[in-house]
Amino acid sequence: MDRFNERVEFDVPMAGHTSLRVGGPADALATPADTYELTGLLAMLIKTGVPWFVLGGGTNLLVRDSGIRGVVISLRPGFSDIAAVDSDQDAVAVHAGAGARLSALCRYALANNLAGMNFALGIPGSVGGAVIMNAGTENGAIESVLSSIEVLHVPDQKEIICRRALLFNYRGLVWDSSIIAKSGYEPIVLAASFELAPADPRTQAAEAETLRARRKQRQPAGFSAGCVFKNPSADAPAGYLIDQAGLKGTRIGDAQVSEVHANFIVNLGRAGATDILRLMDIVREKVLHEYGVELEPEIRTVGESKEK
Ligand SMILES: Cc1cc2nc3c(=O)[nH]c(=O)nc-3n(C[C@H](O)[C@H](O)[C@H](O)COP(=O)(O)OP(=O)(O)OC[C@H]3O[C@@H](n4cnc5c(N)ncnc54)[C@H](O)[C@@H]3O)c2cc1C
Repeated sequence: MDRFNERVEFDVPMAGHTSLRVGGPADALATPADTYELTGLLAMLIKTGVPWFVLGGGTNLLVRDSGIRGVVISLRPGFSDIAAVDSDQDAVAVHAGAGARLSALCRYALANNLAGMNFALGIPGSVGGAVIMNAGTENGAIESVLSSIEVLHVPDQKEIICRRALLFNYRGLVWDSSIIAKSGYEPIVLAASFELAPADPRTQAAEAETLRARRKQRQPAGFSAGCVFKNPSADAPAGYLIDQAGLKGTRIGDAQVSEVHANFIVNLGRAGATDILRLMDIVREKVLHEYGVELEPEIRTVGESKEK
């Protein structure tokens, strides 16, 4: 770890690195500056048998109260460049590092009069996290604008994988077993390329304004990880079922089912992961009992719990 100097910290509370503001300490948090440092770090972790976890913006994560054993790797800010790399009359290829903010990519598209990214306006987190989660809204999802991703097969083999070789489902990229077999580990996304289209700036700006306003109205302020559960179907979204089950405002400690959007759980200040997990259980049980629908979490829960 010596060569990382200030780019590795020890015993780092994950609450400071997640939008829910919840989570115990990671043994270490490393922010490699480039691929050279990243591959060196991974080789060392494999050699010493230390586990790792790749963190994006921490906006879809619930980290348990005893934190994460091993090293959390953040690709921010080392892998954050955004640039147009190719263009013709109908399409512009934009390349973004996995550590770049998705909001920065949306702003880049707007500033350069490119259509395609407006669906993602207001989705927090990184480009890498957005690819892994197939982030999206009713207006579109990452899978529909992506043309390729650059991955690192741990520890040191880079590969560019075309969109058509990738399998996405609702809120997730599903790694093919042949991709995992290349190293035995899930690859790390280093960058992504998007195919955007030249567009009229006024139309783009007007659309962006409408989408931003709509989101502001529907989305609760405060600490959350966005929608907690996947929508079981388009006609009965999770938020509708939770609301109809009378669960808005239900609280365990400082974890509360949002009064604004029932599929959000907000941390009112001092909630722990245990409070949020208990609240999720209550919601799941009530919705199953009332509607016979099993809700599946959209947020990812990682780390160790205090209760053993
Ligand atoms: C207020 C709010 C609103 C939200 N609205 C939406 C919405 O409208 N639509 C939507 O889809 N989501 C929404 N989300 C959820 C979240 O923002 C998205 O899922 C987002 O894409 C997660 O990105 P992230 O960088 O924060 O990933 P993280 O939460 O850090 O990580 C998510 C997963 O991706 C993995 N990962 C991250 N980066 C990499 C990488 N480079 N290589 C390999 N694995 C990686 C992590 O290990 C983890 O498993 C919302 C969240 C909040 C807080």
